[in-house]
Amino acid sequence: AKGKGRNRFHYFTPEMEVLAQTRRRTLEQLREAIQRQQLEVYYQPIIDLSCGGIRKAEALLRWNHPDGQISPLQFIPLAEETGLIVEIGNWVFTEVARQSEAWARTYQVELQVSVNTSPAQYLDDHCCKPEWFEDILAQGLDPARLCVEITEGLLMEPDQTILQKLLMFRDNGVEVSLDDFGTGYSSLAYLKQFDIDYLKIDKSFVSNLSPTSHDRVLCQAIIAMAHTLGIKVIAEGVETEQQQQLLRQIDCDFAQGYFYSRPLPADQFAATWLEPDSK
Ligand code: C2E
Ligand code: CA
Ligand code: CA
Ligand code: CA
Repeated sequence: AKGKGRNRFHYFTPEMEVLAQTRRRTLEQLREAIQRQQLEVYYQPIIDLSCGGIRKAEALLRWNHPDGQISPLQFIPLAEETGLIVEIGNWVFTEVARQSEAWARTYQVELQVSVNTSPAQYLDDHCCKPEWFEDILAQGLDPARLCVEITEGLLMEPDQTILQKLLMFRDNGVEVSLDDFGTGYSSLAYLKQFDIDYLKIDKSFVSNLSPTSHDRVLCQAIIAMAHTLGIKVIAEGVETEQQQQLLRQIDCDFAQGYFYSRPLPADQFAATWLEPDSK
């Protein structure tokens, strides 16, 4: 261990050099992924626990790299660090708007699609401004069919331009959902910064749900508090029947997870979850 300690004073070990190279290569390829049509949006249903029907879906990005699919957990952070997320995010919005409008014409369901957004998109000069949104709506999308998911980090700094952009969405009839609630710096204070429509309980709480667990009490408290504030609650990562039952008992509004379906490519999602219009 002592011998290795010497390396601490070198900024680049051979291993780090290889990592940095891999990163550069991945970044170069990610820059071209849009033009090469390697990005794809998958859709995961969100179930209304009061009736068991589907009302919503979350759009989840996939990168179909020639060497195999790469998880967003790997490339989203890289895209965020380099600012590339703005361009990628624009592509996701446009794609979701196009797909959602196409479904509205073919299927009976009133489906609302949730799009994940990163703080960098709200810090960009153009992104999420009214003119930007007009371009997205040019796909023919009804804004009521759109929801944006934000993370708590965004509400931590009460920046006026960020709040204005979120208001822009809501003024246009787009709902706003607070993702990953319960992780990081969750605080009721953030809920006061901005009026949100939905709160998503992070899957780390849902996975530990049992009739006697502390997480059950915690989830119940989060749900009761959210309802007092007029906020609906979505539980993520629901994998079992028992979790679904417990969530119903504690008055959770919506659920999402492998118990219902994994995220699916658009055509498979439609074939499984949407009913052809019989009109
Ligand atoms: P997230 O927004 O928290 O999305 C939920 C993640 O949980 C997804 O992972 C989903 O596939 C996974 N999941 C759903 N149900 C279950 C379940 O029952 N059990 C378990 N263990 N996992 C479940 P995914 O698709 O790998 O996405 C990872 C993260 O990447 C997302 O987490 C989100 O933060 C980010 N992401 C994905 N697409 C986009 C995008 O278009 N834009 C941005 N900015 N971020 C994205
Ligand atoms: Ca999300
Ligand atoms: Ca989440
Ligand atoms: Ca997340």
